Amino acid sequence: MNDTDFACPRTGSDPSRIIKRDQIARYLPASGGDFIDDEAIRRGLADNARPDKQRIRDILQKSLAIQTLAPDETAALLAVDDPDLLAEMMDTAAKVKRFVYDNRIVTFAPMYISSYCINRCKYCGFSLDNKKERRRCLAMPEITREAEAMVRRGHKRCMAVFGEHPLTGARFISDSLAAIYEAKVPGRRPGAVNNIRRVNVNAAPMSVEDLKIVHEAGIGTFQVFQETYDHVAYRALHPANTVKGDYGWRLTCFHRAFDAGIDDVGLGVLFGIQPDWKFEVAALVAHARELERFSGIGPHTFSVPRMHAASGSAMTTAENPFSDDDFVKAVTVLRLSVPYTGLIVTARESKALRDRCLACGITQMDAGTRIDIGGYSADEAGTAGQDIDAQQFMLGDSRSLEQMVTDLARQGVITSFCTAGYRCGRTGGCIMDALKTGKEGTFCKINAVLTFREWLDDFASPESAAACEPVLEKELAEIAEQFPKFFPQVKARYDRICAGERDLYF
Ligand code: SF4
Repeated sequence: MNDTDFACPRTGSDPSRIIKRDQIARYLPASGGDFIDDEAIRRGLADNARPDKQRIRDILQKSLAIQTLAPDETAALLAVDDPDLLAEMMDTAAKVKRFVYDNRIVTFAPMYISSYCINRCKYCGFSLDNKKERRRCLAMPEITREAEAMVRRGHKRCMAVFGEHPLTGARFISDSLAAIYEAKVPGRRPGAVNNIRRVNVNAAPMSVEDLKIVHEAGIGTFQVFQETYDHVAYRALHPANTVKGDYGWRLTCFHRAFDAGIDDVGLGVLFGIQPDWKFEVAALVAHARELERFSGIGPHTFSVPRMHAASGSAMTTAENPFSDDDFVKAVTVLRLSVPYTGLIVTARESKALRDRCLACGITQMDAGTRIDIGGYSADEAGTAGQDIDAQQFMLGDSRSLEQMVTDLARQGVITSFCTAGYRCGRTGGCIMDALKTGKEGTFCKINAVLTFREWLDDFASPESAAACEPVLEKELAEIAEQFPKFFPQVKARYDRICAGERDLYF
């Protein structure tokens, strides 16, 4: 395939052939506009620029009660500069996270399946305008081999990532999920088999019909990032004659997902592509509130990637500086504003910054990450390395899964490989209540222990296992203390795992 194929109307890259206008209009007011009101958000930020301490403390109480904050309340938190008050906010964010998700970090790894893209986003290495990018799209057997390589490292959760291209439409995504689920790798114990238990998808917005196809293939979370909610900046960064140039098609993708039966969605922005990061935080919360209004189901996750240098992109990180301190504040305010939502900080960021974010309530981190197409297999073959012309951006944290798991354990945090929620039907409306009442946190705690035991026995070196055992013992002791009646059932499953059984959960 060469670049001219991208623009060929025969392949379906013409926006008017992909975007279904009626599937935007039905979710937006008949009077025009959409649910992201730039002017109202900016007015809210200005009107709440000087909140007093007592008001902030009252807002923190609302977060502790696991209630979504009103726009003015999020704006007030964003205005806090006083270091002591900021420390109180971070402390509360950590408490909120602990109540909703307990002391665990869920881990996953992305699988970049294709770098072909018909869009021309000004900040992205996969942009059609980037002639330097060496593009690839994995074939199904290659996808299974990539998944096997991930499984051999100990991964159970995969985030499959696709550019937007006719080659990688809904059928291709659906087949890719099947190819990933097909990967089976012998474990350490005789007869044991390891596999990917959950595949989430990061892809372009789709029609309801296409989303139904992906839903039937067993998707976990459907992730689409708006990149920027600022209408003017969006237009400047995404040319009008591209599919992604249609703000409304992207903004309404989760409404279509809900109508297609996908009740587990992940929102995100790309910080640093426009200067006003506070606007993006406030708009993310507005989007979450709209989803709650529309379906009663808020987002499962927020992702907060920050723009990093990309091959072929004229944009630099110096254009819209977004400091580490502001990043931590953005994470803290998101945790407090939508307390039940998971928060992902990826390996784009350095270990040092991710450690800081741990203290303010993030819930998921990827590890052992490869973002080049076929990177996990290449790594096993000893031919991998970071190459800006073969990946979307550069990574800031290149720790292996084992290193990250061990580092977290040394900080007293347990890594969870749990995929139980999806498989027990605890998604969508079901999980909303469980999250808000702290019930899901109990499952998180128990399933973290069970899956961590499995992982230590199947993948850890003796040194890593020794470093991780104390956190496992501490968690197990806490379960015994907090749930004395239920503990025998947990211990029974734990013992069965120690004896070699796998994939036991609550
Ligand atoms: S950001 Fe996404 S849609 Fe835009 S060029 Fe990159 S891969 Fe394509």
